Amino acid sequence: MLCATVAEKTPKKAIQWARRAREYADLLELRVDHLENPDDMDRVLERVPEPLIVTVRPVSEGGHFRGSPRKRHRLLAEAVNRGVEYISVDQAIPLTERENIGGIQILTYHNHRETPADLSSLLSRYQEDEEADYIKISTYCNNLNDAFRLMDLEPNGTRPIIVTGMGEPGLITRILYRKTSSYMTFGAANPGNPAAEGQPSVRVLSERYRVQKRDPSTDLYGLIGDPVSHSQSPRLFNELFNEHNIDAVYVPLKMQQTRTLGRLLERSDFQGASVTIPHKRTVIPYLDSLNPYAEDIGAVNTIARVDDRFEGYNTDARAAVETLIDCWPEEDVSSEMENPLAGTKVLMLGAGGAARAAGTSLIRAGVDLTLTNRTRERGEELASELEVSFLPWEERETITDLDLLVNCTSVGMKPMSDLSPFPEEHLSPDMVVFDMVYTPAETRLIQAARDAGCHTITGDEMFRRQAHRQFRLWTGIHQEENEGEPEN
Ligand code: NAP
Repeated sequence: MLCATVAEKTPKKAIQWARRAREYADLLELRVDHLENPDDMDRVLERVPEPLIVTVRPVSEGGHFRGSPRKRHRLLAEAVNRGVEYISVDQAIPLTERENIGGIQILTYHNHRETPADLSSLLSRYQEDEEADYIKISTYCNNLNDAFRLMDLEPNGTRPIIVTGMGEPGLITRILYRKTSSYMTFGAANPGNPAAEGQPSVRVLSERYRVQKRDPSTDLYGLIGDPVSHSQSPRLFNELFNEHNIDAVYVPLKMQQTRTLGRLLERSDFQGASVTIPHKRTVIPYLDSLNPYAEDIGAVNTIARVDDRFEGYNTDARAAVETLIDCWPEEDVSSEMENPLAGTKVLMLGAGGAARAAGTSLIRAGVDLTLTNRTRERGEELASELEVSFLPWEERETITDLDLLVNCTSVGMKPMSDLSPFPEEHLSPDMVVFDMVYTPAETRLIQAARDAGCHTITGDEMFRRQAHRQFRLWTGIHQEENEGEPEN
């Protein structure tokens, strides 16, 4: 079941959001402790659709209720008397008091700091509680490993369990709850007002991730990286899976340490992933093989399960050149010219994973490439590997007669969106400016280049092409009409 948590200050807003959320959710949780006046509970209960969970969580348990324990118990008893289906309780309420309150009780353990080491013993202790009908374990996931431990939790007793991971790494526990022993999952009724950190809206859980339809046979794909919350990939891939009726879900997997990947690769439902900052190189030792293009580049942005082995690919490389060729100014392309890049003078900004991929394919396309990077050592190292010239970062504007400027740095990406990686006064109208940053696509560099009269190519053009190549590696399905050879 998908439950929408309503955590509003006023009865009017609580009723509004409860009604809207019911379109996506199977039941609602009313957080009475979020109401400015908890005595407004009755007014809300009269007007919102059933079934319901009523929660009056005190500050000591991580909630907002500041009244006395007596008042809290009275509110919960009132909710039960009104016929509310479930109430959320905790062990701060004495057993005898909980017996008096009655109703179907969800005994909740909350930990807003961490996911304790021995979850199984914790759950066993809760299973011994005489008044509990359901047991909810909701803990903060400091990393993806915490989320996997929560997902592995078995009821180990007679009461059904509900498991929720808070924080960004905990998102997978909410999306894949039907692959775990969890009886339900929670989302925010109001997307702008989640009750817990990392809680997505019920609309996103229902429409994008289709959480109610997932089951143990659903294939798992994901985005491995840090940060991942800005990414467009979950929206795009989940739409593609739905469009093609593929029983698969694509989940953002905030991964700080590459070693967590081992845990993911052990899962039989895991079929593949996109790989982003900072893991494009560090994932390589975990894979069974690299395709020749990825090996040549030395960076992987795609993992695919092939015959029970994990293979690494790089779709950025070909997508970068494909984007440039497709979006090159029309007046510069004659009908018989297949590759307008050949012989062009190019300055590439950056020496990270994207630069490594784009640099390799630009050289293959026959450009005259110069590389610059803020950290000289890293820039010189890549320039020497690619066998191209290196220009110190402080001198990047001194290069003359440029045909193409390619930004492969993350400057311009949120939260650096008010910065540009190239001095704007040195942009000239005969330059093509390609910015790989796609969040946002309209970067400061793109705006300045447009103002200077340059032909501009935005990162979303490349993002779409590289993602479609990933989708093809996972499913064999082509999306782009002009999509060239696979990554080899
Ligand atoms: P990365 O491996 O972390 O490399 C980051 C690069 O940005 C490094 O060269 C770094 O220089 C430079 N940089 C970061 N902050 C800087 C600053 N304040 N001033 C100057 N340089 C700075 O990241 P990546 O994977 O290469 O990705 C780079 C960008 O490309 C990201 O925005 C990513 O989203 C985008 N990208 C887009 C697509 C697409 O499909 N459109 C595909 C791949 C990547 P140092 O070496 O000095 O740290």
